[in-house]
Amino acid sequence: MTEIPEDHPRHDSLVTRHRIEDGVDDGITSRQGLIAQGRGEAYDYLLGEETIPSADAAERAAAAQLLTADHPVVSVNGNVAALVPDALVALAAATGADLAVNLFNRTEERVERIADHLREHGASGVLGTKADARIPGLDHERATVDSDGIYDADVVLVPLEDGDRAAALAEMGKTELVIDLNPLSRSAQAASVPIIDNVVRAVPNITAHARDLSEAENAAREECIQEFDREAALRAAEERIRGGMSGGA
Ligand code: ATP
Repeated sequence: MTEIPEDHPRHDSLVTRHRIEDGVDDGITSRQGLIAQGRGEAYDYLLGEETIPSADAAERAAAAQLLTADHPVVSVNGNVAALVPDALVALAAATGADLAVNLFNRTEERVERIADHLREHGASGVLGTKADARIPGLDHERATVDSDGIYDADVVLVPLEDGDRAAALAEMGKTELVIDLNPLSRSAQAASVPIIDNVVRAVPNITAHARDLSEAENAAREECIQEFDREAALRAAEERIRGGMSGGA
């Protein structure tokens, strides 16, 4: 990877971009993943490349949801696997969630590569390779999941999900936690908990909240879930994007 000086004004953004490029070279990330990254960067720039307070509240609510779930699952695609493999493994450990590979442009080879990549970063059981169940309402390719993974989950964290699939998962009655930098994307709009933040910041912050909340009373986790206002979170992010860094979010 090209060395980027620590004091470069766009250091974090460039490191992230190179991780996605490496992901493509390693067969983990699809070429469409490059386009998704570009879209994300634009929104992140407008958000000020920081976790705004409403996103932090969403990340805490997401942590509470994962901790109180019967079967929490974290969906992993090629972008997320390239960007935050260690943070995904830490999140799974902190919440008891399963990691499940779930690809929009699914090929057996890419699923296996991502599962191997996660195992190299310390993941134990990685789901998503069986492909023995279908999400209703989607065409065959995009509907494929594991029966004991996303299909069975009551709470599912989907970073960078496609809008149709996010809507179909919500339709199945799952509590959906979506990380997406665009508050207007169909995925964010379909989510019970829309997290308008970069996965690079969001995943470790959900883990930090989970560690904190796992030591709290049940009532504290419930309160966190009840108090979260999805409409307000979407509005705050949109205001920040439209208003620039002087916005009130
Ligand atoms: P939708 O169908 O949900 O309306 P889309 O399928 O058109 O959206 P894509 O073109 O797949 O969306 O773009 C991927 C989405 O992922 C964009 O909304 C982008 O903001 C978001 N995204 C890309 N990179 C990141 C990242 N690192 N962190 C969070 N979100 C990201």
